Amino acid sequence: MGYAEITLKLPTDYSEKLLKKLISKEISDENFSFHIIRRSLDARNKRDIHFLTKIGITADNLSGNLPIIKKLEIPDRRGINKKAVVTGCGPAGIFAALILQKAGFSVTIIEKGSGVAKRKEKIDEFEKTGIFDRFGGYCFGEGGAGTFSDGKLTSRTKTISIEKDFIFDTFIKAGAPEEIAYETYPHLGSDNLKKIIPAIISDFRDCGGEVLFESEVTEIFKNGDRIRAVGVSGGHTGTIDGDFFIFANGHSSFKLYKLLISNGVLFTTKPFAIGFRVEHIQEELNRSMWRRPSLPGVKAAEYHLTADCNPGHAFTFCMCPGGKIVQSAPDGISSVVNGMSNYARNGFFANSAVVTPFSLEEAAGREVAAGNALDLLEEMEHNFYNFRKSFDIPAARISDIIRGRTTSKLPESSFSFNLVPADLSDFFPKNVYERLKTGLEIFSKKLDCFENGTAMGFESKTSAPIKCLRNQDLTAAPFKNLYICGEGSGYSGGIVSSAADGIKTALKIASD
Ligand SMILES: Cc1cc2nc3c(=O)[nH]c(=O)nc-3n(C[C@H](O)[C@H](O)[C@H](O)COP(=O)(O)OP(=O)(O)OC[C@H]3O[C@@H](n4cnc5c(N)ncnc54)[C@H](O)[C@@H]3O)c2cc1C
Repeated sequence: MGYAEITLKLPTDYSEKLLKKLISKEISDENFSFHIIRRSLDARNKRDIHFLTKIGITADNLSGNLPIIKKLEIPDRRGINKKAVVTGCGPAGIFAALILQKAGFSVTIIEKGSGVAKRKEKIDEFEKTGIFDRFGGYCFGEGGAGTFSDGKLTSRTKTISIEKDFIFDTFIKAGAPEEIAYETYPHLGSDNLKKIIPAIISDFRDCGGEVLFESEVTEIFKNGDRIRAVGVSGGHTGTIDGDFFIFANGHSSFKLYKLLISNGVLFTTKPFAIGFRVEHIQEELNRSMWRRPSLPGVKAAEYHLTADCNPGHAFTFCMCPGGKIVQSAPDGISSVVNGMSNYARNGFFANSAVVTPFSLEEAAGREVAAGNALDLLEEMEHNFYNFRKSFDIPAARISDIIRGRTTSKLPESSFSFNLVPADLSDFFPKNVYERLKTGLEIFSKKLDCFENGTAMGFESKTSAPIKCLRNQDLTAAPFKNLYICGEGSGYSGGIVSSAADGIKTALKIASD
């Protein structure tokens, strides 16, 4: 049995029958098995939009060697009788917990938010009433910030291919569509995530893992350079001790960051990106990118734009085709936007962040300690809330921003709260706003419908504003059994890279 890899150009609405026929023709054999390695949409020539599909084929008449697939190796530490306590049930916490459980550790996950079903009820209630529930919301609860998202699984990190295979495999076993393993821009959709995450957690519990929802870590008990226990309040109240402590707390819980800092954990500021969300009519984007309102076999057009703003740059981030803009405030007095969509990506609107790199130190004009950096960012998030003392957000037409005009009337939007016409330059440092504005001008030249969109709200959660000082063995200085991983550590951003950081952290603990 031999192996070969070929790349086929396929119509976007190709059938499995056509695919098999083309493979058979290519290798001159009717008996073969195959798997798709990578599939990407090539829309450069609007008259010939197609999939470029890389395929691995196994057949008797092929001479190549079967590829060696490297798998994640999890050390077997059963019998050492050690306990790991994981704070946070987002992608980083879940995958760290799964690896440690497979290695034989006893694992408890402590999560301040609710389980998915209850969280969904709370989000619906929040969007109806504007009353924020600290156990609910888009940032906190089972699955972390990633559950009520678009579930994009792209990652620019180059060093995580084995971890990524493990993550995708886990998602597929829990019910994710198999195509995530080969799409260039894979995504799960919020509807799928609401089933996949509870399935993974249920499996974790069936294998003996403990998960405490609506339970917030509010205290840390130290013994010299080791953490002895954490204090928890809420659903579960008390002290939980352990041998290893992983904090996979994301970057929306400033209260927890401050707890870690006040207990001597070392953090520094880091650059991140801020901006606003833009929204367009999806069909207009389809026409602009494909020269037609829809494309059979493809859900919705997707863009990834960058602009050299000289000085600096702006870029689009976390685009949600056919999606909805959500109020992802971390508390009841801040206002932050983000985007989500379902697997079908068939909503009327499309949204994306337009952001530019930002340094709190640059904005303050001085060196800023990590704790103060959080205060400065919090102040910006509060400003957006204080605009109307509500979750309604300021917004302006992109065409008005570009021409320096005041927006008087806004178009319809997917956002659940109100959009209020405003001058967005009032909310950003001058140089940041100039870069965002130049970005919009350049994007409007690249995509002819871009000007028709609306810009709104505050996008401040692209990645963490601070990062912990990590030792080579991944412990967080100055402690010997404390690990901070995922987005909150400042070393990852997004679902996949945060999950991979959780895996790497757990493997380090299990192999020491
Ligand atoms: C609406 C939205 C859409 C998004 N869309 C995408 C997307 O499509 N693709 C993508 O890659 N990324 C997306 N992101 C970002 C992505 O969700 C995060 O990068 C990712 O979830 C980070 O994972 P994490 O495990 O490090 O942290 P989180 O997912 O933030 O999880 C941290 C968890 O820790 C818990 N926690 C915090 N403090 C405490 C405490 N004191 N006690 C107990 N528990 C605590 C929180 O409640 C939370 O559940 C989106 C985010 C949002 C909000």
